[in-house]
Amino acid sequence: MPVRRHSIPASLPALSNAEIADRLASFAQLLSARKENPYKVKAYQRAAARIRHLSESLDEMVRNDEDLTQFAGIGEAIASAIREIVRTGSLSKLETLRAGAAPALASISQYPRLDPKRVVRVYKKLGLSTVEELRERLEKGEIDKVLGSRMAYHIRQGLTETHAMLLYHADRLHEAIEEFLIGRCGVRRVDVAGSYRRRLEIVEELVFVIDADDFGSVVDRMQRYGGRTPLVSSQNGHAVFALSSGILLRLQHAGKENWGYHLVACTGSKAHLNKLASVCGPRSALQLKHCESETALYRSCGVQYIEPELREGHDEVDRAKAGTLPKLVTIAEIRGDLHAHSLSSDGADSIDDMAEAARERGYEYIGISDHSQSLKIARGVSVEDLRAQIRFIDKLNGRLRGIRVLKSSEVDILVDGSLDYPDDLLKELDYTVCSIHSRFALGREAQTERLLRAMDNRYCNILGHATGRLLLKRPGYQIDEDRVIAHARENGCFLEINSSPDRLDVCADTARKAAAAGVLISISTDSHSTGELDLIRCGMDQARRAGLEQTEVLNCLSWAKLWRLFRR
Ligand SMILES: [Zn+2]
Ligand SMILES: [Zn+2]
Repeated sequence: MPVRRHSIPASLPALSNAEIADRLASFAQLLSARKENPYKVKAYQRAAARIRHLSESLDEMVRNDEDLTQFAGIGEAIASAIREIVRTGSLSKLETLRAGAAPALASISQYPRLDPKRVVRVYKKLGLSTVEELRERLEKGEIDKVLGSRMAYHIRQGLTETHAMLLYHADRLHEAIEEFLIGRCGVRRVDVAGSYRRRLEIVEELVFVIDADDFGSVVDRMQRYGGRTPLVSSQNGHAVFALSSGILLRLQHAGKENWGYHLVACTGSKAHLNKLASVCGPRSALQLKHCESETALYRSCGVQYIEPELREGHDEVDRAKAGTLPKLVTIAEIRGDLHAHSLSSDGADSIDDMAEAARERGYEYIGISDHSQSLKIARGVSVEDLRAQIRFIDKLNGRLRGIRVLKSSEVDILVDGSLDYPDDLLKELDYTVCSIHSRFALGREAQTERLLRAMDNRYCNILGHATGRLLLKRPGYQIDEDRVIAHARENGCFLEINSSPDRLDVCADTARKAAAAGVLISISTDSHSTGELDLIRCGMDQARRAGLEQTEVLNCLSWAKLWRLFRR
């Protein structure tokens, strides 16, 4: 195929994928402000997000006349928008929308992560017209006060330059960078480190320890990743880049003889490394030990090997010294899933299919916890339908082999703390997951009371996603977690680590506290389809960060033991 480079003026600078993505995201934002087709808005938003993760340079591909629709999420319309951006430096339909938008709205479009409809509401309420005023009011706490903490949180996220990413959104990015380092940069060996390796639910950087003959040339080549990846700093075998997805990339050069040291130093949190230094001597001395592996390094300090998920500076170094580190729970020890939806509410698969998928994963049981009657937006199940579902599951269990379906429900906790079904129906279930899905702004005291009253009901077993947080979207509602944990213990209730990548609720710290108080934790997926059962790995990461052992996890128990715990 002839290469048609002539269509692009030579003077036009090459664009990075990030710059192309910014324009698509701004376009989506203005479309959304005009209340245009939400599918179209989503398509542009998704394409922008996808592009930020690509290692190939779109600019180069357009100049070489390559097909852009080979990437998932880039159809003909978006491909043609990208070609126009590369060929002219701008997107005419974006400029038209900007020109036609009120000045207040046009200024928001420099911050593509702000939701224009919400910001316009803030502008109206507070009489603002510029982003500078918005920022000022945010800093004064006025947005918190007048429009609530969720709105303030959204604005804060939208205005910050430093980005963060859900751990599980970084998976693909991690792979792409690793491939690029090995395939294009002459890197011999690479290990991921940093908070990604510690499985922190939100990451702000990706860190790799690498071995290569010529670190300088790796740094040069890395700057061509995704079209252009600016170098922030480089010295002494350590380089930092600004990735187009908004997070930072750090590369640490290491040789075979000090691999163990660099991997430990690049993985542990500051608190962990300080504690390690207090036990093993300063980092400079550690580096001189010439340990090829982490195990060798920890051993040379007289401590046990510490799993990356534990390297946060809690008590792991002391316990490693005493030889009493927890034996962290693993997926192989999970016997079943206690929170899954089916077609009966807002799930995508039938109970039969969910059961089969659970059996394929080697589980002994799966609990079907569809939404309760009041949750209309998630097609909550009526009293009659739940009674029918109970009879259906009894029959199903009669013919299924190798898997038991548990009769459950994700019962809404109503605003007064009562449960969303009558007791005489709840008692027909094997157990319940009880969750809050409404009235998030009640305030700490009332919200805590609401959870305590729910646990007073003898048919309340597991608190589902107990804080309601959605990572990078909204903070959880306020609760007094010490009181919730104490009440759970007194009443024989359990907490859940919800495995949805954007929930991971309760967080590792709360799970750690609860387990220490003797409250077992359910690691559940909240699956809405068979494939989502695999999200157990996300909840598992957090359980391990909480230091949980098999004996502290509810669904590591067989059904023969479990059902007794559910009878109160
Ligand atoms: Zn829920
Ligand atoms: Zn659910």
